Amino acid sequence: MKKRLVIKVGSSILSNGDTLELKQIEALCQFIAKLKAKFDIILVSSGAVASGYTKLHLDKSIIENKQALASIGQPLLMETYRQILSKYNIIPAQLLLIGSTFDSRKRTAYAKRTIEILLQNQILPIINENDSIAQGELELSFGDNDRLSASVAHYFNSAMLVILSDVYGYYDKNPLEYSNANLIKNVSNISEDLLKLEQKSGSNFSTGGIVTKLMAADFLLKNDREMFLCSGFDLKPTLEFLLNDIHSFGTLFSKTNGVNI
Ligand code: ADP
Repeated sequence: MKKRLVIKVGSSILSNGDTLELKQIEALCQFIAKLKAKFDIILVSSGAVASGYTKLHLDKSIIENKQALASIGQPLLMETYRQILSKYNIIPAQLLLIGSTFDSRKRTAYAKRTIEILLQNQILPIINENDSIAQGELELSFGDNDRLSASVAHYFNSAMLVILSDVYGYYDKNPLEYSNANLIKNVSNISEDLLKLEQKSGSNFSTGGIVTKLMAADFLLKNDREMFLCSGFDLKPTLEFLLNDIHSFGTLFSKTNGVNI
């Protein structure tokens, strides 16, 4: 049986705010095609709102508009994936979950049953939050889908979650603010203080979406699973790590051999 991998890609990779970044989606699909030889893959993808905005310019500062854009954009996003993935003979399937999906054992079991059948048949499940009915992630301007993808990895029994973001991993300070920030390649434990840091981007701490990623990592570490955080713009280091065990960039959150942060 192949090892299972959940890959989460953030909206900063998939869109520039106004339109979808097709080149990056192409690179992501090629990346998935390469990994599929070795792993069973589940993709968690944002991008529905950005996709909807290409068809209808509603004011995105209003939450109801964002929800409407998500319902316009979700099928377009899937169509984009379907077209690009067809080059690699990969068929995608859509699962729209909400945060509370995993609160219900029954719903979790039903969703897992579907996932198992899809993976057995080499289909690529693509999961997103059902933003049109659930406000959870849309209300937040940070960390979209990070915690949902950690739940996906845990409840659908994936040994590892890979988060593709706009940074090469977790640094000792925000790399977008400090040019002398150092990448921490192995983390085994995350302090409560870090998990409690103010999450809003533009806040005093300027944590961007990193706190929700740390929360995801913490949840997985506590459940004996691993997380790898690296760049979604440059997929090569993640590919090398996953296929050849070469760890040049990226942060591996794993119970063994890491530092405490
Ligand atoms: P995504 O859209 O991929 O989910 P986010 O923008 O939500 O990404 O989160 C990543 C951001 O977190 C980075 O762009 C970076 O500015 C910020 N950040 C803050 N502190 C750190 C840190 N210590 N290490 C890495 N990134 C950090």
